[in-house]
Amino acid sequence: MRAVTFRDVGDFQIEDVPKPSLQAASDVLLKVTLGAICGSDLHIYHGHTPINPGAVIGHEFTGVIEEVGPEVRRFRAGDRVVASFFTACGHCYLCRRGWFAQCVDKGTFGHGEYFGNLGGGQAEWVVVPLADHTLEVIPEGMSDEQAIFVGDILSTAYFGAERAEIRPGDTVAVIGAGPVGLLAVMAAQLFGPARVYAVDMIDARLELAQELGAIPVNAAEVHPVEFLEKATHGHGVDRSIECVGLISAVDTAFECVRGGGTISMVGVPSKTEWQFPIMQAWMKDLTFRAGWCNVQAYMRPLLDLVAAGRLQPERIISHRMRLEEAPEAYRMFDAREATKIVLTP
Ligand code: NAD
Ligand code: ZN
Repeated sequence: MRAVTFRDVGDFQIEDVPKPSLQAASDVLLKVTLGAICGSDLHIYHGHTPINPGAVIGHEFTGVIEEVGPEVRRFRAGDRVVASFFTACGHCYLCRRGWFAQCVDKGTFGHGEYFGNLGGGQAEWVVVPLADHTLEVIPEGMSDEQAIFVGDILSTAYFGAERAEIRPGDTVAVIGAGPVGLLAVMAAQLFGPARVYAVDMIDARLELAQELGAIPVNAAEVHPVEFLEKATHGHGVDRSIECVGLISAVDTAFECVRGGGTISMVGVPSKTEWQFPIMQAWMKDLTFRAGWCNVQAYMRPLLDLVAAGRLQPERIISHRMRLEEAPEAYRMFDAREATKIVLTP
C-alpha cells in the first residue's frame, strides 16, 4: 500500500509498504478515507520527536472498517469511523477514572517504535488496536472533513478551553492561531466569553481567527502582553489557552492573565524543562494546567456539537490534497503556506 514514511529529518516520503493486518483480537483494519497533517507531525519532521526511519506517519484519520477482530464489540465491517490519535484499553485504573490519555496501554498512531509501534493514518490502510475504546462511529450525514478533527485537534482545543475555566463574560487569549488555536477560538465560544483574542504572527491565520469570532493580535506588530493589558483596562485577560508549545508562547500565556486567572496549555512543550514562575503564580493566585488531551472523553459530545451545527471545524481546512502529494503538503505546512491540509488516499 501507499504510505507517508519518515526517512530523515525534513524528509517524509510516499512509499510502498506492506499492507497491515489484524494482530490482536481487539484490532480493526481500517481503509483510510481521509488523513490530516498536524502540528505534532511537524515535531517529527523537525527531528524533535524521536522516531525510527520507515515509520508510517499520521495520527488524524477517518476510515471505513474492513475487518474486525473477534473481541471487537462496538463495530462492524462497513462502519464509518474516526480514530482518537492514541489507543486506550478502557479497563485499567486510569481509564476507569475517565483518564484515557493516561492508559497503561496507550500507543500513539504514526509515531513509530517509541510510542507503541502503531501504524499511521497517512496511508491507505491502518490497523487500530483496542478499537472499542479508540474509535467512534461518524454520525450519518456528517462528512469525513467535519468528523476528522474530533480525534485530535478539536478535542485538544476543547480540552484547553474547558480547563481554562472560561465563564460567561470572560476575556480569553488564545496564544497561537494554528489549527489548534483556531479551533480553541471556536471551542472557547461555547463557554460564553465576552471576547476572545487570538495571538499569532501569520496574517492568513489571524484573518481566519477573526472570521471565527476572535479579535486578532499580531505579535509581529505589537507586544501581545502590552496589547492585551491595554485592551482589558490594565487588568489582563481572565484566561489564556496556550496552543504553540514554544517557551516564548508559554511566557505570553502566563504574563497576559490577570490576578486569579487561569492558564491552560496544550501546545507540546519544545523543551523538557521550564523555570516555573512560582512567585508570580503565588502572588497572582494563578491556576496553570498543561496536558496531553484526554481525547476519548470528548469525541462523542464533540461529534454531537458538530452534528448540531454548533461547531464547524472543517472551516480551518485550507488545502485538500492527494496522499501522493504529501511531501509537497509537508513543505507547504512547514512554510506556513497552508493552515490545515487534509490528504485523500
Ligand atoms: P502549528 O505549528 O501549525 O501552529 C502553531 C502556531 O503558533 C503558528 O501559527 C505560529 O505562527 C504560532 N506561534 C509561534 N510562536 C508563537 C508565539 N510566540 N506567540 C504566538 N503564536 C506563535 O501547530 P498546531 O497544529 O496548531 O498545533 C499547536 C500545538 O499543539 C503543537 O505543539 C502541537 O503538537 C500541539 N498539540 C497538542 C495536543 C495535546 O494533546 N495537548 C494535541 C494536538 C496538538
Ligand atoms: Zn495531531
